[in-house]
Formats: sequence, structure tokens, C-alpha cells
Amino acid sequence: MNEYEKLLGNIYSNLPEKVTTTERFEVPKFEFFTEGNKTIIKNFKSVCDKIRRDQESVCKYFSKELAVPVGVQGERLILQRKLMGDIINKKLEEFVLKFVMCRQCNKPDTHMQEASHGLKQLVCESCGARRSIR
Ligand SMILES: [Zn+2]
Repeated sequence: MNEYEKLLGNIYSNLPEKVTTTERFEVPKFEFFTEGNKTIIKNFKSVCDKIRRDQESVCKYFSKELAVPVGVQGERLILQRKLMGDIINKKLEEFVLKFVMCRQCNKPDTHMQEASHGLKQLVCESCGARRSIR
């Protein structure tokens, strides 16, 4: 390998990984800020609309997962604690993986359906796959 090739090699290895632009669903992000001892999510409603889940279920999940009382206020969600870092968006991603994404085709075009014994199923509108939700 001559100097030129080495240099070229370096350039290529420093390039960021190729971004695949196939229609992969991107989990929306919450925009939030803290105020006193509260954390306020500004775009709560619009994120819920994007992932097509009602605000109440998302609310419940957050309250349970973060062990924080929460309340919806217009388009916002108020969490009664100051939350550091990006735990809120991590939890949102978890929520989407658990309750929104189809594991068969990896699309978010799903809805929840009541199954027997109070169980819920996630039904995919793209490929028809179903899985139970706990
Ligand atoms: Zn599917």
C-alpha cells in the first residue's frame, strides 16, 4: 500500500456509515424543558398523534415507568419531577417498540385490539401480523 492509498483508506474509514433512506420509521422525539421540580413535554399531543396512540395510554406508561405523577395540560404533558438526561425519549422509544412497531414488517401502521380475557393485541395493518401485549 502506498501513501496515497493509505490516505484514501483513512478518508473512507472516517466517513459516517451510509444512511439508508428506505422508509424506516423514525420514532418522534419529545421536546421538553424543566421548570422548578417539573418536567414539561411541549409536543406531547403531536407525538401521540404521530405514533397513533391515545394520550391516556402514553400517559399511563410514563407515569408507571418513571414512577412520577403526570397530567395532561392542553398539548403538553406535565411530569411532577425534574428529569435529567434523555430518559424521556428513551422511554418513548421503548413504548414505540413495545406498543407500536410491528415485529414482522417493522412498520408502525398498527392498532390495539381487545382480545379475550382482557388481553390486548397489536394488529398490523400492513402485513396482518398480531401479537399480544402485556
Ligand atoms: Zn406488519
